[in-house]
Amino acid sequence: MPARATGSGSEIARTPPQLRAPRRVLSAAWRSLGLRFAAAGFQGTSAFEITSGHASLRRSPSTRTSGLAAKEALPQPEQGASFAGASAPGGLQIAGALAAAAVVGATARRARKPVVGGNWKCNPESMSKLDGLIANINACDTSKCDVYVCPSPLHVAYCADKFSNGADVTPQNCNFKGCGAFTGEMAVEQMKDMGITQVLIGHSERRGEFGIFPMDDNNTLATKLKYILDAGMSCVFCIGEPKEIREKGLDAVLAEMDVQMTQIYSLLDPAKVVIAYEPVWAIGTGLTATPEDAQATHAGIRKLIAEKASPAVAEAIRIQYGGSANAANAPELSAQPDVDGFLVGGASLKPEFAEIVAAISKAKA
Ligand code: PEP
Repeated sequence: MPARATGSGSEIARTPPQLRAPRRVLSAAWRSLGLRFAAAGFQGTSAFEITSGHASLRRSPSTRTSGLAAKEALPQPEQGASFAGASAPGGLQIAGALAAAAVVGATARRARKPVVGGNWKCNPESMSKLDGLIANINACDTSKCDVYVCPSPLHVAYCADKFSNGADVTPQNCNFKGCGAFTGEMAVEQMKDMGITQVLIGHSERRGEFGIFPMDDNNTLATKLKYILDAGMSCVFCIGEPKEIREKGLDAVLAEMDVQMTQIYSLLDPAKVVIAYEPVWAIGTGLTATPEDAQATHAGIRKLIAEKASPAVAEAIRIQYGGSANAANAPELSAQPDVDGFLVGGASLKPEFAEIVAAISKAKA
């Protein structure tokens, strides 16, 4: 998988938006039709090399019910396909199908309101710095983008009522037992009591990818997600592959994504669950997936969801990219049709967070 230091250019990013748009619409249209054709970015296999901590490019040729429409209200891809094929013969039939699918796909895609989250992890060291961080978040224009913030557990209560622009306080973890004799844990019941409606789970730092003892696995995370949804909360569910898997190529990455999602496909309510795709090798490293490879992976994840949940769920569910996202690379990544937002670590502690929100709001407008 190509990856590079943040902020450099790419062919697709240099293409004027008006030229990129038809490809995005058609890509969504193919998916909407339920056809098994791969979208352009998903066809090629990619290889990824890391040497001495650096990545290099080597491509093979080839809501808070958050403003998102409930899945029932979304256009049904199958309806578009059957409408297009109802009466027109031959080539006209295909052209009609494509046109109808483009409309359905574009409509469905527009229904995915962008979403950007800031993961403060175990920061800041001093509570005296919280007001400054909160001000960064309150500086975000949330009119076209959902925003959430994951404060450190010790700071959740302080932050809970501090956001004037609707940003959701989203704790970084919860248990799957509720309140009781669970030392060190956080319960969704406690969150709800504080007016919190969303929680993040599955971050790779809790899955143990950074040498920390694994505190979650695919089993515990599926149990937690069910518990969260049963409690009426929303969830940001993180997935992502370590470097060793990325080095094997896109197919291996998607096989791992399938493993990480196998137990949650049936729980994927797009109005309640956001998927955060975060390649582990890109988190906190300054390396980002190129826009093309982020798109290919997001499209692949969406295809898995289409096959194993449903095409309607796949069209509606929002998939964030995470991994050294910042103000410099956000515009290019935002231009990718299957990138619906970002989960931001380091840059969420800086004023540039508002620029990331602005970038994806503009790209998806
Ligand atoms: C994260 O922790 O979710 C993350 C993406 O971190 P960073 O942006 O610092 O890579």
